[in-house]
Amino acid sequence: MAYVISDDCIACGACAAGCPVDAISEGDGKYVIDADACVSCGACAGTCPVGAPQEG
Ligand code: SF4
Ligand code: SF4
Repeated sequence: MAYVISDDCIACGACAAGCPVDAISEGDGKYVIDADACVSCGACAGTCPVGAPQEG
C-alpha cells in the first residue's frame, strides 16, 4: 500500500526532498503522494514534523 498524506500537512516540503522515487509533489494547500510511484519505504513518515504521511 502507498503512503497517503493527511490534512495535518503544513506544506513544508521536507518529505518531497527525501522521497527516493520522487513520488511527492505540492498539491492544493498540502503535499500529495503519487500512489502509483510510491514504494512504501516510509522515509516521508520519518521526515515529517507533524506525522502527516501514513500507510494507506
Ligand atoms: Fe516516497 Fe517512500 Fe514516502 Fe512513498 S513512502 S512517498 S516512496 S518517501
Ligand atoms: Fe507535509 Fe509533512 Fe511533507 Fe512537510 S514533511 S510537506 S508537513 S507531509
